[in-house]
Amino acid sequence: MRRISIFGATGSIGQNTIDLIRRDRAAYKVVALTGAGNIAQLAADAIDLGAEIAVTARQDRLDDLRAALAGSDVIAAAGARAIAEAAARPADWVMSAIVGAAGLEPGIVAMQQGATLALANKESLVTAGDLVHRVAHAHGAQILPVDSEHSAVFQALIGEDMAAVERITITASGGAFRDWPIADMAKATPEQAATHPNWDMGQRITIDSASMFNKALEVIETKEFFGVAPQQIEVLVHPESLVHALVGFKDGALMAHVGPPDMRHAIGFALHHPDRKHLPVERLNLAHIGQLTFKAPNPERYPALRLAWDVLEIGGMAGCIFNAAKEKALDAFIDHRIGFLDMAAVVEETLTVFSADSCLINAEMTLDTVQQTDHLARKRADEIIANRKG
Ligand code: NAD
Ligand code: MG
Repeated sequence: MRRISIFGATGSIGQNTIDLIRRDRAAYKVVALTGAGNIAQLAADAIDLGAEIAVTARQDRLDDLRAALAGSDVIAAAGARAIAEAAARPADWVMSAIVGAAGLEPGIVAMQQGATLALANKESLVTAGDLVHRVAHAHGAQILPVDSEHSAVFQALIGEDMAAVERITITASGGAFRDWPIADMAKATPEQAATHPNWDMGQRITIDSASMFNKALEVIETKEFFGVAPQQIEVLVHPESLVHALVGFKDGALMAHVGPPDMRHAIGFALHHPDRKHLPVERLNLAHIGQLTFKAPNPERYPALRLAWDVLEIGGMAGCIFNAAKEKALDAFIDHRIGFLDMAAVVEETLTVFSADSCLINAEMTLDTVQQTDHLARKRADEIIANRKG
């Protein structure tokens, strides 16, 4: 039996992971499940799957979790420290599906005990790519991509020589506002931004898809995962979300990964790797689909996208600053404190402020220095947001 843990078990990726586990329960021993405010879901899944421990990120909800787990053998715990401790419990395979920079530490701790890390939390590689790779290398831990584009690239590269790769193209649906007049986007509400045309995902990543901050994170993630140069990475708007990524080789061949917009494919691929097993996803009927469309992203519509290449050029802690400022700008947008297009301006300004500080940008990457930089960037982004408002 494989020992597995799911960090962010109550979210969209977490629930899709649990769906796959439930279909073959006898194959897995569930070690830890974590969540935040959705205590009922966390407790129900932990009891149903016979988890050793359930942890909520919310210290103030520990009593609720204890009550919900009463009469079962599942241990209840709360807080970021307890999540990190749960990640130290021996496991063979760990799903990293917490949203935001909070996902970094549990992933690091899980790799330190040698677990294979199925990485949905793209923020880990964006904020601390060097550190994540260093820990994986030191402990012989494998990292498998779960983001659909990166899973697609990973699959297209099986058996290939990286030296023969010319470019990597990741696709973007274009998000909720892809057909809106640009002038209207400044007035878009969080509710409007949180509706995705193709994928059913958490609220934050759905809004990040509308702004293309999600794609910007994924451009950085592509560089960190596959080690290609920034100018070898390309983004294409593909409204159907069926081709997830393409790898171009130096003989002119393009290997595309085509599949339904269902995260259970990428999750299942990482779960069963290196095997391929039956997965309960739709089989595409291309004759029925008829045509696929692609176009270059309009930089005016998606000002956040270009920032990814700025981050790659600055290097070092720039990804950490970018992500921290993005999380703060997203909070402010969700709270109606800033407009939709202000998010990119806030992140750009935060990045500009810190990029002049070469000591901070080039500091050695440890969990401490990353967390300190994250904290500083959040503080500064908050000030920038407050000034914009005033
Ligand atoms: P979600 O919002 O649906 O779920 C997030 C999970 O993280 C929940 O379990 C929540 O309780 C937990 N959480 C939230 N804040 C936390 C904190 N501070 N500390 C600990 N736990 C916390 O998000 P999601 O859509 O499942 O996305 C999860 C991650 O996977 C993100 O990094 C996202 O970018 C990535 N991802 C998601 C999809 C998708 O289809 N949903 C696709 C690719 C990548
Ligand atoms: Mg993706």
